[in-house]
Amino acid sequence: MLAFLVLAVLSLAVPSYGLDDSGCAALGGTCTDYRYTTCKAGYVTNKCAGDTYRRCCLNCDATCQALESSYATYDSSCAASGGTCKVTSNYCSGSYVSGKCGGPSDRKCCVPSSGGGGSNSIGLSYSSCAGVNMVLRDGWGARPPKYTNAMHTPVSQVFIHHTTGSACYDQDRCSSLIRSHQNYHMDSNGWADIGYNFLIGEDGRVYEGRGFDRQGGHTQGYNSVSIAVSFVGDYTSRLPNQAALNAAKAIIDCGVQLGKVTSGYRLKGHRDVGSTACPGDTLYSHIRTWSHYS
Ligand SMILES: [Zn+2]
Repeated sequence: MLAFLVLAVLSLAVPSYGLDDSGCAALGGTCTDYRYTTCKAGYVTNKCAGDTYRRCCLNCDATCQALESSYATYDSSCAASGGTCKVTSNYCSGSYVSGKCGGPSDRKCCVPSSGGGGSNSIGLSYSSCAGVNMVLRDGWGARPPKYTNAMHTPVSQVFIHHTTGSACYDQDRCSSLIRSHQNYHMDSNGWADIGYNFLIGEDGRVYEGRGFDRQGGHTQGYNSVSIAVSFVGDYTSRLPNQAALNAAKAIIDCGVQLGKVTSGYRLKGHRDVGSTACPGDTLYSHIRTWSHYS
């Protein structure tokens, strides 16, 4: 009986992927989501539990740190092209370019694809989507998530929210408000990241939250099967402006185009499945007229 209990506990502790982090620990490394942390000594694959994004970051000891500093004195042409020099086992949301960085040949310049990018961004190309003026995470100054859960896409549901609080009409103000929403979600609510997949400002921009490929924290019971689009502001007694309404429709259409949202998706307001006034009376009445509302 005791042996059975021990086995039961062990089987709970070992993830279903059949790997734990011990292989990484044996290398002196740390398992982390390689999309969000630059690892100076590089990443090793197949040493960590979890999804394919969790990789083993090798330790950069004092010698490694000193070498990295000496390499960095030759990195200026990479920086001038908007890139970052790193070992190519690191994630790059754009593409690696040779000849712009100091150090060994596998230390290259990661130049983000147009529209920004960088280590904190999800790196998905939204640029092919009509009508989407996207501000990526780096663009609004997002903190990296504490952890991530991959979304199984395409999802078949879209939830509309509002953040409550102030609205915003330019990128600086929207970015500032969204950073404060992220801080509240992470520090006061204890969540992994800002809850929503996308946020919409009345500047007509779409702000990347968790994006299409990561589960959000927004609609209890539905986070793993839906994306959340949240309008920045309080829409109890007025509608978001037309630019914001268009932006919300455009990012949902973008999701369909990218295969992240099913073409027959069902759209709902947060209040349809929870005891909340969200997304506000006026906005809620409006979205009920959208063709996918059900
Ligand atoms: Zn809500």
